[in-house]
Amino acid sequence: MIDATGLMVFYENILALNNVSIKCSENQIVGVFGANSAGKSTLMYMLSGIIEDIRKKEDMAGGERVTAMGNIKYLGEEIAGLKPSRRAKKGLVLCPERRRIFKECTVLENLRIGGYLASVAQAKKTLDYVFKIFPALEKLQKRIGGFLSGGEQQMLAIGRALMAQPKLLLLDEPLLGLSPMMQAVLVRATKEIRDEQGISIIVTEQYARPVLPIVDYAFILENGTAVLEGTRQELMSNPDIRSAYFGI
Ligand code: ATP
Repeated sequence: MIDATGLMVFYENILALNNVSIKCSENQIVGVFGANSAGKSTLMYMLSGIIEDIRKKEDMAGGERVTAMGNIKYLGEEIAGLKPSRRAKKGLVLCPERRRIFKECTVLENLRIGGYLASVAQAKKTLDYVFKIFPALEKLQKRIGGFLSGGEQQMLAIGRALMAQPKLLLLDEPLLGLSPMMQAVLVRATKEIRDEQGISIIVTEQYARPVLPIVDYAFILENGTAVLEGTRQELMSNPDIRSAYFGI
């Protein structure tokens, strides 16, 4: 599905990603775990293409020089040179960190905006599906996004990403700052999205524990370097790895 190799990103002289390679196959949920500043968001910016927008913004503002390199093969095609919008049209959709919903728009408007590329029939079908996995959103359709709780905003962010008809969904720290109960709701929904819609998912988190049960394969990032990778079973069967990285 996606096979990214040799990803390198510098923010001026800070090396944010150091020769990182990552893969996700059809129908898989892949976890990327790492502490603050490990490079998780930068990796998501590389895969989605947003890094190019960040580079241009910094350039225009006379800010830091952002340098990005590497190969990204997605559905058999090299996409490293493609704009984020072109990647999104091909089904590579990012649900960014800190749930960047449109705060002044209603829930329904946010979802409709997410589905602007979809046909009317597709958008209707996906909207029904979003309300099926997140019934709370159906009740809150007319509520202004900014008045939702953190958990509801995250449901909305995922719902909006689904409206864009992803084949590979990139979830950047979806559980950040949420209660254990809300985290459990979102983890269950993530698995349902893969199981019921066949959407592949790459999910980043600082703490692996809540998402580990649904992950098929995982990578661990430390200071911009992928230090460890394996299937869930491989990682869990090593007691040293379990205690060092997963606190289990
Ligand atoms: P977090 O959990 O805090 O979101 P992260 O794992 O997503 O962390 P990144 O945000 O990718 O990590 O950051 C990786 C490194 O790059 C950090 O050292 C960070 O300070 C640096 N960095 C990220 N964005 C920028 C930027 N726009 N300008 C300069 N440095 C940046």
